[in-house]
Amino acid sequence: MNVALEHAAVLPTYARLDVTFVEGDGAWLVDDDGRRYLDLLGGIAVVGLGHRHPAPLAAAHAQLDRLWHVSNLFWTEPMEQLAGLLSARFGGASAFFCNSGAESVEAALKWARKTTGRVEVVALEGSFHGRTLGALSVTGQPGKRAAFEPLLPGVRFATPATLAEHVGPETAAILLEPVQGEGGVHPLAVETLAEARALADAHGALLVLDEVQTGVGRCGEFFAWQRLGVRPDAVTLAKGLANGLPIGALLVADSAPTGFEPGDHASTFGGNPVASAAACAVVDAIDDVLLARVRALSDQLAAGLSPFGEVRGLGLLLALELDRPAGPLVADALSRGLVVGTAGERVLRLTPPLTLTDDEADLALELLAEVLG
Ligand SMILES: *Cc1c(COP(=O)(O)O)cnc(C)c1O
Repeated sequence: MNVALEHAAVLPTYARLDVTFVEGDGAWLVDDDGRRYLDLLGGIAVVGLGHRHPAPLAAAHAQLDRLWHVSNLFWTEPMEQLAGLLSARFGGASAFFCNSGAESVEAALKWARKTTGRVEVVALEGSFHGRTLGALSVTGQPGKRAAFEPLLPGVRFATPATLAEHVGPETAAILLEPVQGEGGVHPLAVETLAEARALADAHGALLVLDEVQTGVGRCGEFFAWQRLGVRPDAVTLAKGLANGLPIGALLVADSAPTGFEPGDHASTFGGNPVASAAACAVVDAIDDVLLARVRALSDQLAAGLSPFGEVRGLGLLLALELDRPAGPLVADALSRGLVVGTAGERVLRLTPPLTLTDDEADLALELLAEVLG
């Protein structure tokens, strides 16, 4: 292998592991030496249905053969259909489509400002909302922000305990991840989310949930907020929405102000027909049977991991808190043919395909026991 060293023409923003993957099938990956790996990372909570799942594969293929792009000066069928499917899942919402999680957060920030005429955003310490300057401004991790300041003004970072101190008449939006993903897989307490809803209502602010990682079935319901029982005014989606094709979306509840008018926001590729066609197939595939399966698999994996440390998460966004750095364990797992991730220094993160079989889950736990033992 050692291919990574030869990729000198790529800017060094990532510390990549030394493997080049060339093929994927379900929960399995194949590298350029023909070696197979069980994938419990799923491209970081992206490949929810497994690699090359037949439904989005067929939908994307069919759309590739019809129409790739016309711009948002016109309507296209897959985009309209996807908006309808997401609205139905939400219980009434309108979509803005873009191409990534950070872009969906940028759209949410502009929407909140335009809608309320206010500037302040309250986010949580330890949160992650993306790497573009706006999304980074609401990301509560000093280490990711320091080199890029000054960032957007008017952002206040709270803890669940201090939320009420930070929300007031200047607050445009409270922005929360139902489960903090990149920040270490910390599920938000139901009470915190309920308090955020009450604070937003009391101060005329908007409650925006960043479901870029938790949405599209990952947490055992289509949206994580459906498990937590609190309805937001808007949600952001991205990672799992098109099973690996680039897409992002801001969904604004029908009960919330529309805010945006023509000319307020745009994205050349947003609502791309091929990505949207794949996303429609993904949304269709996330039915009650699969969601129940996600919850059962979550229990199975959590039970298998619990002897090795504290297990956190919701659905198939799971983490194991370690007593040592996670990086070397990830490399060790990879050498044994298992792909897992991290979420901070001492946190192992599992975001497997929602379609993982019982046998695959057992094999993963066996391999992890070898690594952790
Ligand atoms: C991954 C992530 C983002 C950023 O998504 P990109 O597609 O990498 O821009 C934003 N919010 C959350 C909660 C995420 O997990």
